[in-house]
Amino acid sequence: MKFTPYLFLLLLAGCVGLSKEQEAPRPEYVMAIHGGAGTISKDLMTPELETAYRSALQAALDKGESILKAGGSSADAVEATIHILEESPLFNAGKGAVFTHEETVELDASFMDGATLNAGAVAGVKTLRHPISAARLVMDSSVHVMMAGTGADAFGEKMGLEIVENDFFYTDRRLKQVQDRKQAEMEGLQSMLNPREPVLKKYGTVGCVALDKNGNLAAGTSTGGMTNKRYGRVGDAPIIGAGTYANNASCAISCTGHGEYFIRNVVAHDVAARMMYKGLSLEQAAGEVIYDMLPPQGGTGGLVAVDKDGNVALPFNTPGMFRGFVKSTGETGIDIYKEE
Ligand code: ASP
Repeated sequence: MKFTPYLFLLLLAGCVGLSKEQEAPRPEYVMAIHGGAGTISKDLMTPELETAYRSALQAALDKGESILKAGGSSADAVEATIHILEESPLFNAGKGAVFTHEETVELDASFMDGATLNAGAVAGVKTLRHPISAARLVMDSSVHVMMAGTGADAFGEKMGLEIVENDFFYTDRRLKQVQDRKQAEMEGLQSMLNPREPVLKKYGTVGCVALDKNGNLAAGTSTGGMTNKRYGRVGDAPIIGAGTYANNASCAISCTGHGEYFIRNVVAHDVAARMMYKGLSLEQAAGEVIYDMLPPQGGTGGLVAVDKDGNVALPFNTPGMFRGFVKSTGETGIDIYKEE
């Protein structure tokens, strides 16, 4: 056969057609979750604890998936999923959150809706059983984006959220953690006042991102922050663009890690910006931020992300990150360590 320009064009058109056909259609819905990143390795874990983590993550995924499958919104799925994680004493959010230096619990959370770019956040709340719901109410039922301290608690109460005593959140494990940390501080081994001190080894923040059947993205993050925090320290979790971001034009992101680095690098928004301005895929954009940008600065952590086409990325630069995802196509997984 003679290879004419006409034949070449015909072949090219055929190839383009083929590759179009091979592109997987967008899944009807997708969700990804995390339960924190850090020095989580097999030798620090008992089989019982690992099973408990896996089943808590599975219960959270199941809850969110049931909402998305029934045609519910990504925002409803994110909120309900985070409720399950906030209720579990295993994670550093809601019950089981880490202690401040004063041995109290102060919680941060944020929420973003990718369709409207509306967002809400609370910082340093002490009495709201579900801070993620307070963040969503700031988003949906106020003209503000962020409320902090006793004002945020009062807003949540006024909006009808469940109020608890601060000791509702306490667990012996977290009390021991903060007491050990304070002991180390007294012995001069660690200090939160040293800006480069690598004292923060384990993060247990929870987060969820989802794409619903209508193509809407949402993201939420909830945390107790860092063990031994003081002076009203606030991390990245309640800061829109740092710990949480969602935009139907690109992706939805929830972060976990050493918050100061995530704030300085505006991590969640940076991933979306790299997709929009550089034309990167979700995996490339998230990888550049987590693997290339943060480590030279000493920034440790990870994120979960879903893009508008239903792709998922779960990168982290720590030994482990509690994470899971589910797609309408049946693809699903729960992982903890770097190498599974
Ligand atoms: N990012 C959170 C903070 O800095 C901590 C975490 O992810 O566990 O408050």
